[in-house]
Amino acid sequence: MNQELLQRYARLIVRTGANVQPGQRVELCAQVDQEALAAMIAQECYAAGAQYVDLLWQSAAMDRLHYLHADTDTLGEVRPWQEERARQRTEDLPVRIFLESEDPDALNGIDPGKLTEVTQRRQRVLKKYREALDGKHQWCIAAAASPAWATKVFPGVPEEEAVERLWQAIVDCVYLDTGRDPAEVWAEHNANLSRRADWLNRMAFTSLEYHSANGTDFTVGLISGAKWAGAGDTNHTNDTFYVPNLPTEEVFTSPMRGVCQGTLVSVKPLSWSGQLIEDFSITYEDGKAVSCKARVGQESLEQLLHMDEGAAMLGEVALVPKESPINTSGLLFYSTLFDENACCHVAAGHGFPEVLDDFLSLSKEELTARGVNDSMLHVDYMVGADDLSITGVQADGTRVPIFVDGTWADNVG
Ligand code: ZN
Repeated sequence: MNQELLQRYARLIVRTGANVQPGQRVELCAQVDQEALAAMIAQECYAAGAQYVDLLWQSAAMDRLHYLHADTDTLGEVRPWQEERARQRTEDLPVRIFLESEDPDALNGIDPGKLTEVTQRRQRVLKKYREALDGKHQWCIAAAASPAWATKVFPGVPEEEAVERLWQAIVDCVYLDTGRDPAEVWAEHNANLSRRADWLNRMAFTSLEYHSANGTDFTVGLISGAKWAGAGDTNHTNDTFYVPNLPTEEVFTSPMRGVCQGTLVSVKPLSWSGQLIEDFSITYEDGKAVSCKARVGQESLEQLLHMDEGAAMLGEVALVPKESPINTSGLLFYSTLFDENACCHVAAGHGFPEVLDDFLSLSKEELTARGVNDSMLHVDYMVGADDLSITGVQADGTRVPIFVDGTWADNVG
């Protein structure tokens, strides 16, 4: 990828994505193979007036070695300094930028039970610090092409060419090279998504019904007064608008915890915890997953749904038209950041407190009581079949089409 485009990308991540403001601290997480882009991003952050850019290097190859050789007690322990760093973050409220480029197969073959146990133990300590950041900081996840990732997406293609092709796909999905200023393109894109979200908010649906010929037959209740949102989000401590995911095509909300019924059939493989889960369906009763079936990765899928009580319930419903550039690329990215923006999805696990206007004044218990699901994980899976229809039902029983044949119905604002 040429330097000029990379520079433009760094600018998009910092200015449009994270929207770094003068005086803010920034925490940048990147894989060790992305030093050049990480430096460009840091440079942009300082140009935007950042006070300091803290760089946290990550290595998927090292993670794999840890899981192979260190025991569960060691990996599951949060060292005092690690906990202190998480606590300090709740005070500093840094802007967080995550540059993802890791090998989707990095943790292949690692015992899913060990992965689950380690995650659970660490989350037991760290979850409260993560929750303390909700709605109070800006963050942005963006991707960079690495050889390991690129050769997974383009099997059989020589490495260098695969990396170029993956970069091109990323560039297309984030509207970086359309011949117009990316910041302008994104302002328009955000406005379009916000318009859809506003329409959904005005319609005040109480439930959604999903149908597809693939076997999806599903109803989910919505939280009264919970907001739908588009690409952007707001840091409520400084009213800064930011775009948490590049790319993003979704309009989403958190549904009513524990209120859904029926079967959802996934239309794309799910890459979770370094493992691939393929051709699966999940059946819900009284809001909880009661059974699941996967052609590949049955054990992982069961682990996922049993991580904690909330993992069996839903934390997100998201609407994405099948014309999204991620979908039309025809690629499977093996990355939720991209694949979740290919089509409609739901997420198992944690909901978004921000869907409630008064969330900052609500305790964790109150949020759960209002219907926002609580879990240590949030895992999206895709249900947006090409023929998917989604119908909104209002309090008086009025039914309004929202999605027809996998895309927005004409009547949607
Ligand atoms: Zn989503």
